[in-house]
Parts: sequence; structure tokens; C-alpha cells
Amino acid sequence: MSELALQGVSAAPGVTVGTAVVLDPINGRDSKIVPPSERAHELEVANGALEIAAGELDMIASRLREAGRNEEADIVETGVLMAGDAVLSSRVESLVNEGRSAPDALRRAADQLGAELAELPDPMLAQRADDLRSLGRRAAARAAGIRPDQTGGVLVAATLGPADVAELGATGIALAGGGITAHAAIVARSLGVPMVVGLGTSVLEVVNGEEVVLDGDRGLLVQRPESSRVAAARGEAERRRLARQRAVADRLHDAVTKDGHRVCVLANASTVAEALEGLAQGAEGVGLLRTELLFLDAPAWPSYEQQINFLKPIFAQLPGMTATVRLFDFGGDKTPPFLKGTTARGIDLLLRSPDALKTQLAAIVDAGILVKLRVLVPMVTSPDQLRAVRSVLDGVLQGRSSPLLGSMIETPEAALHAGAIATESDFFSIGTNDLTQLVFGLDREQSKSAPVTDVRVLRLIDATARAARSALIPVDVCGEAASDAAVMPILVGLGVDELSAAAARVGEVRQWVREMSYAAGRQAAEALLTGNSFREGSHAGRERV
Ligand code: PEP
Ligand code: MG
Repeated sequence: MSELALQGVSAAPGVTVGTAVVLDPINGRDSKIVPPSERAHELEVANGALEIAAGELDMIASRLREAGRNEEADIVETGVLMAGDAVLSSRVESLVNEGRSAPDALRRAADQLGAELAELPDPMLAQRADDLRSLGRRAAARAAGIRPDQTGGVLVAATLGPADVAELGATGIALAGGGITAHAAIVARSLGVPMVVGLGTSVLEVVNGEEVVLDGDRGLLVQRPESSRVAAARGEAERRRLARQRAVADRLHDAVTKDGHRVCVLANASTVAEALEGLAQGAEGVGLLRTELLFLDAPAWPSYEQQINFLKPIFAQLPGMTATVRLFDFGGDKTPPFLKGTTARGIDLLLRSPDALKTQLAAIVDAGILVKLRVLVPMVTSPDQLRAVRSVLDGVLQGRSSPLLGSMIETPEAALHAGAIATESDFFSIGTNDLTQLVFGLDREQSKSAPVTDVRVLRLIDATARAARSALIPVDVCGEAASDAAVMPILVGLGVDELSAAAARVGEVRQWVREMSYAAGRQAAEALLTGNSFREGSHAGRERV
């Protein structure tokens, strides 16, 4: 039989081959009615299973905490509290008294209460719905005497809580539902576990134990994979494993080109785990902290306390190091419910809510005492926006020294006015993701190859780098182009001082810097700007060792 590919949405990158571990078989419920004489015993089994599940979650949380992953530990620990919740146990009890078996009662109770939670207007509580369903499934499995397969494999489920992701051994995750901003996806990205969500209920028909290929880069789950696909996936997984091993081993070696040009490599992050991963691979700090991603379901602008709670644990990993915090970049594909209908984006949107801007700047400055703080303004189009932000920033400093204030150059308009914007900026960060999309009118969600090396984009990057040089301010690239092997040497050749890459790619980028020649990078950039002799896919300026 030929292979069958299910298309979902990529939630965490990476590729893996493995046997499917199906947590939610399509016919997992049982309709057997337990006779009244056995119901007391059934209730004991259900309560015991809840205790076992709570104990397991507690252990997972401790392991995460020992590994310095406090953020994920906190998330997993909420499951422990839920297991002891009186509402849950009384719902289980009434279902058992109706004649439901212990596993069925546990699953149903968690599903019912999960559905109630999901309806709540508070998104923080609504997000707990998945965690509760996951607890119910875990307890139901224990009540039925099932231990999870801990030998690795691709977990297949309807939805998944963060604890299931953190459970030992999952090499990949495929979900019928789920969202890329759900806790489970955040934990998967942090732990480097490939994950695909939104595969639809047909994924639950995958047979326990069958071999599958999960492609977290393309959002695919492939059943009955051809041997060539299996071999390619194994090769890719091995390549990534070795690259990470090498990156960690080389983390203390500088990123200097063969002809002595130093490049600062930073990490993009939105969680503690990503910051830790970037540092483990030798990042010199965080070049882009995306602050909006954790608040995409928010019912209102995040409060000062919520932002402090988000920022402090990340800053705690970066004492004395660069921490570049980008102001909320809401709008476009990142529009939370409370901003629905807006056509504005980035700083344009934020300046329309001056209180929100002030609250965010105050939280960043207050939390960032121990780091080399930089504040980055998204979607800048004019120097006036920088002036406006700086005046609010000055108002929250209360005598403290100001962090550097930088502009994201990610629209053609900004690149064309880079000279004027530079006069108000302490640094530039080029967002090649949006810049490329806007130059070509591409759909960011769909398009896989961003033609950054097209001369129209390169000229805008070149103009930006020149404006930065004239104003004597540093310029970095924090879009995906910074971790594209073919493009990175061109960026360095164009005079980019810093590259900020996805945390898991930091080591590779540092290695590429060591393998390239700055002079060759400059030549390649020059050739592209003038005659376009560069071929996509050739590794300009970089020689393999
Ligand atoms: C970019 O546009 O390149 C960028 C880094 O910002 P984001 O991907 O968050 O829009
Ligand atoms: Mg952008």
C-alpha cells in the first residue's frame, strides 16, 4: 500500500521516525454498566488512579525543575492541583454511581469539566481545559491498568497536556486538534520535540505500533512511509542531533570568520527554555524576545504583573547579558480576541493604547535590572514613532539609566527611511520574515521559501546596514534568514553585526560563521547587488570543513 500523508500545522520543528503511541484510540470509551454492588470498588479504583496520576505529574514537575525548566514545571504542577480538586472527584463519583466504569468516569468527568473551563471568558482558565482532559486520560489509563509506553515513539492524541509532552521518551507529537500557542506546543518547542497539530480526527485511526514519519517542519504525519522517506527522515534527525552535540561542545569558542571578523550570535526566544537552549549552544544573549506570543488569547492588554511574571524568569537566565525585548507586535496573524477587527499592527497599534505601552515599558525596565537591556520597537515606519516611545520610556525610568531603544526594520517603507529612523534609534534589527513577505506580497503562513537573496530585498537590507553604519549604530538580523545557511554569509557581507537565530539553531549559525570568509561574503553580497550571479542554495562565502 502506498504511503498516506496527513497535513496539519507545524507546532514544533524537527523530523522523526517512530512507532505510533496512540493515546486516544478512536473507540476508547466503554459502554458497559457496572452493577451497583461493584460501584464502591469502582470508585476506589478511580480515586486511586487520580492519586497515581497526581504522583506521576509531581515527579515530572520535579524532573523539570531539576533541569532548570521551572516554567514547564509550574504548568505541569497545575495538573497535580487539579487531581485533588473536589469538583472533579465529585463529578467522578456521580458518574460511577450512574454505573460508569472507573476509566470511563474519569475520562468523561475531565471532558465535561474541561468543556466548561473552555467556555470561560478568562483565557488562562480556558487554556487549562486541555490540561484537565489530559489528566483525565492519564488517570483513566491507570484505572485500566495501562502504563504509558515510555520507550519513545510518536504520541498520537486528540489533544495533549503539557505533562504528556514532558513525559519521558516522546520523540514526536501528532495531534488531531490543538493549537500552536497551546501550552503543549510551547513545551514541545522548548524541549526540541517535533510536533504537528490540527491533523483532524483521521489521525486517531493510526494503529498503535505502526511506523510513522512526523515532519514538524512541514506539518506532516506520514503513515506507511516509503523506505526513501524513512531514510531521509532518519538522516535529518541524526544531522540535527549531531549538530546540537557539536554546538554545545563548541559553545565557548567565539564566532569569528576565517579571516578574523567577529559576529555576535544571539537567540530568539519567547520562553525560559528557549533562552536556556540558546545559551547552551553559545548564544551571547537574546536578540529577540517575542513578548506577544504568550498573550495571543488574552482578553485585554496584559497587566503589569502578568508581564513581570513572564519576563523575570527569562531575565534570570541572562545576568549581565544582552536581553532584547520587543514591544508587543500584535496585529496581522497575531491578533488576540480583544483586538479583533484591527487593521493596525506593531507599534502603530500600541501607540493607540498609550496606557498599554506605558505598562509594558514599566514592566520591562523594572524586571530588567540585571540584564543588558534593549527595547525593540516592532513594525517601525517613521522616526516619530521612536520619539513617541522614547518619551513614554523616559517617563517610567524614574532616574534609572535608559535601556537602548532599537527599531525593527521589517517594512520596505522603514528600509527606505532607514537614515531618518537611525537618528532616533540606538540599534537596528532587520525582520527579514515580514520584509520579504511585504516586498513580494507572500503569505507568511503558507510560503516556505522566502527569497531574501532577491536583489529587491537585498537592496533594502543594504540600505538599512548603510544607514546604521553612518549613524554608528549596530544592526542585527532577527528573521529566519539569519539561520539560513545560504543567506547568512551574504548578511554578514552586507555589514550585519549580529545574527539572532531560533534558539535551537544558534550553534549551527556560530559554526557557519567560523567556516565562512568575510571577504568572500562581501564579494557575494556585492555580486548579488550588482549582477545577481548568486544561485540560491550555493553557500556563498562558506566553505565546508
Ligand atoms: C521578522 O519579521 O523577521 C521578525 C523577526 O518578526 P516576527 O517573525 O516576530 O514577525
Ligand atoms: Mg516581524
